[in-house]
Amino acid sequence: MALTLTLDAHDPETQARAGRMETRHGEVLTPAFMPVGTQGAVKTLTPDELTAAGADILLANTYHLDQRPGVDVVRALGGLHRFMGWPKAILTDSGGFQVLSLAELRKVSDEGVEFRSHLDGSRKFLSPEEAVRIQDGLGTDIAMSLDELVEAPVAPDAARRAAERTVLWAERGLKERERLRDEGRGGMALFGINQGGVEAAERRRCFERLGAMPFDGYAIGGLWVGEERSLSLDMVEHDCGLFPEGRPRYLMGVGHPVDVLDALGRGVDLLDCVLPTRNARRGTVFVSTGRLVVKNAAYAADPRPLDLECDCYTCARFSRAYLRHLFAAGELLGMRLASIHAVTHMIGLVRRARRAVLEGRFREFREAFVERFRSGETLAPSGAA
Ligand SMILES: [Zn+2]
Repeated sequence: MALTLTLDAHDPETQARAGRMETRHGEVLTPAFMPVGTQGAVKTLTPDELTAAGADILLANTYHLDQRPGVDVVRALGGLHRFMGWPKAILTDSGGFQVLSLAELRKVSDEGVEFRSHLDGSRKFLSPEEAVRIQDGLGTDIAMSLDELVEAPVAPDAARRAAERTVLWAERGLKERERLRDEGRGGMALFGINQGGVEAAERRRCFERLGAMPFDGYAIGGLWVGEERSLSLDMVEHDCGLFPEGRPRYLMGVGHPVDVLDALGRGVDLLDCVLPTRNARRGTVFVSTGRLVVKNAAYAADPRPLDLECDCYTCARFSRAYLRHLFAAGELLGMRLASIHAVTHMIGLVRRARRAVLEGRFREFREAFVERFRSGETLAPSGAA
């Protein structure tokens, strides 16, 4: 088995679960928040800093790495783990999302996606087989099947066509991994992605076929693209209800703290999102009591850490006033320190949620977190009302 999931606890009042996922590069405690290393690096952070933040799995973007430096270079240098100096687990996406959002002149057919590179304009073709081969070449631990995503708002017939193509591509990706395994490669886990937009019946139809295929885990795709949040959460609950109990469930691209806890309460095991680190580089971080805009002039003389309850390196050593100064002065250290906090905060939140599941008090934990998060009580400058 390329991957095994052992479930240690189910929350008595919600669908939240806690477990351990064994990969080729070590154990991942679930649920887990995965920082995103788009181009083989979580922007501004070293692997040691990610480890200190509690990360035991990262996400890397296949499209970016295949464009630059290229899968052949990474493979020749011993694979992505060695290339980026990260010894723990890596999940790669299929590349489909970036092809569809970044590349030019893309043309989607049943065969795959034809596109021009956003870097040099060269003509390329991404098929479901190629997506699996590239991820295998990178040496990932968990690969994703190529899926078709549609732009919001999604008409029901477009969602249906995308789901049908996704199923077709899923089957071909799995076959390609079999072929690679016959050659002594293809040792990574492969996840299928469920689609169907916000139509429960469509998602069920899609999973009737995906669920019959031997994927190592399943992802929930096509949500948080502009629809009502409650509808997305309903679809998460719907999909988790269909997915097999013993395999990991991955919700792609969701990173707002409240959304994360709501997804965990519906049975999700893995999440990733670029937003916490992207926002941090722009000077906005999530803290226990809400969203803090570091650059705000109100913090110019605030001696408190970003988050009074955080034990990350940044919060242990530096004041809001110093962080604000670094951003105002354009010092790169500001981005780094804010990123350290952002990653530690998200991983720590999910880790605390895991503990709450183990102790059978997830619902209580979630309610207390959300209430505090919405309070904003420490966001006012020190000494102000
Ligand atoms: Zn912190």
